[in-house]
Amino acid sequence: MMTEESKRKPIGVILREKGVITADHVQFALMEQKISTERFGEILERLGFITQYDVATTIAWQENLPYLDIEDVVPGEKELQLFNKNICYKNLFLPLKIEDNQIDIAIADHFTINDVTQIITRQTGLRPRIHCVEKNKLINKINASYYFLENPVESLLEKEINLLKQDTEHARGYEKFIGFLLQYAVKMRATDIHIRPMTSSLSIAFRVDGVMVAVLALPGSLLRLVSALKLKAEIDIAEQRLPQDGRFSETILHNSYDFRVSTIVTKHGENMVVRILPVSSAVMGLSQLGFYPEDVKLVEDIFTEPSGIVLLTGPTGSGKSTTLFAGIRCLDLMKKNVVTVENPIEYRIPLLRQTQVNEKAGYTFSDAIRYFLRHDPDVILVGEIRDHETAETAVSASTTGHLVLSTLHTNSAIGAISRLKDLGVNSFLIADSLLGVVSQRLVRKICPYCKESYEATKEEKDYLQDQDINIIYRGKTCDFCSGTGYHGRTLVYEILKVDKKMAAMIDKNESLDVISRYAQEHGFTNIFDVCRKKVKEGVTTVDETKRVLGKMRL
Ligand SMILES: [Zn+2]
Repeated sequence: MMTEESKRKPIGVILREKGVITADHVQFALMEQKISTERFGEILERLGFITQYDVATTIAWQENLPYLDIEDVVPGEKELQLFNKNICYKNLFLPLKIEDNQIDIAIADHFTINDVTQIITRQTGLRPRIHCVEKNKLINKINASYYFLENPVESLLEKEINLLKQDTEHARGYEKFIGFLLQYAVKMRATDIHIRPMTSSLSIAFRVDGVMVAVLALPGSLLRLVSALKLKAEIDIAEQRLPQDGRFSETILHNSYDFRVSTIVTKHGENMVVRILPVSSAVMGLSQLGFYPEDVKLVEDIFTEPSGIVLLTGPTGSGKSTTLFAGIRCLDLMKKNVVTVENPIEYRIPLLRQTQVNEKAGYTFSDAIRYFLRHDPDVILVGEIRDHETAETAVSASTTGHLVLSTLHTNSAIGAISRLKDLGVNSFLIADSLLGVVSQRLVRKICPYCKESYEATKEEKDYLQDQDINIIYRGKTCDFCSGTGYHGRTLVYEILKVDKKMAAMIDKNESLDVISRYAQEHGFTNIFDVCRKKVKEGVTTVDETKRVLGKMRL
């Protein structure tokens, strides 16, 4: 008898049928499989041919099930208690929420659907409602959910603080406290921990989704935390007047992180920031980042030109390199020699030749480009253009048959043209080489747990320049979003594609206003329009748009 299970095709076959991967990808991955113990899907992912998001959405498509971003979900305590962690781990599922006689379940592998359904029905009598999620995110969520169920980090942290407060003899070490603090930061998805001495206390804040959130106030007697962290980061604890840097690594809930510690001295004492960097970040796809389908196509078009320069612009922390690597995935990596110079390397793709800037050793962005040109490259990725030399070498390389990808600090896409000129690149060279510019920011998404609709105010309609908008959305604030009303971030962006006419205008040194008008008449959508669209769709809020774009108008 043919069972449901045996009718299911391996993920590689479905991805091939859906056109996510090509025959060449399969061929290459099969070659790799001979010398590896990994599963086929894992090899495809390691080589950068697919992302976990591709796999999850493809399984969802094949099985006609919904895809779910599990990062937006907190499994209920009573739901978690229905199963033990090992069963979830072994069968790769996670119970999320019971509603009436149904239970929401996350799975990551279509071959487990039958087993999981049986386990759920047998153990709970409830009907499972299955959602497809990314495997790496599911494993993280299983680990974190059960770990924090047994070890509620907030109360453990509080207990430890009390013990330290009572310890007037200074006999108690800070290892435990630091451990809980780091776990708490990871649980909150913080990118930075700020430790700030005040007049008689110590304030601890996390940066979450780009915004600071105060999380703890400690008595001044716990100031030794700063020295303990300095020690851990191998920073000179005797030096308390000069700014210092250090680092340490730690594994938290099976994931490795680099912690970069830096101190500066303020009036009240040493201020410390601990930057949290996951050791390896998963490369994402363009649509997953928040590009609309028609714009995914536009970005793909720009990235797949044989030669010229493509620039990503936006402030620090606006996710430029994430987009750069999502764009690189559009390239036929097997047929192209792609070399990179980065600072630091954030994403690793084995088919790229990735190098890291080492200024002390004299290996800078511009040196790297010069070396690369002798290395027969098709594509050169330069982490950042910030000086005349790099700008000129990058642009020159792009006019001699190479595709150059890089980032610049400008506010708008069109501003990249004047920025290149400011850096001393000739207009005719810019006109000759510039293929396109993506300018981007990250806005926070409304928390899915406390999202509510409301009638837009007059002021909001004015700001959005759309009097027809009535209902928009916001987060009411809840426990899940730690009272912020937001959870996670998405991209807002504008894409400038340089056509022949625009190139001629750049060559003739036309003003940015003139070029901008031309672009708008030819389908250019500015970042504000994308924000408005995301506000209308209930993805983000007017306040968030104002916070990120400020009063900027393009
Ligand atoms: Zn909320």
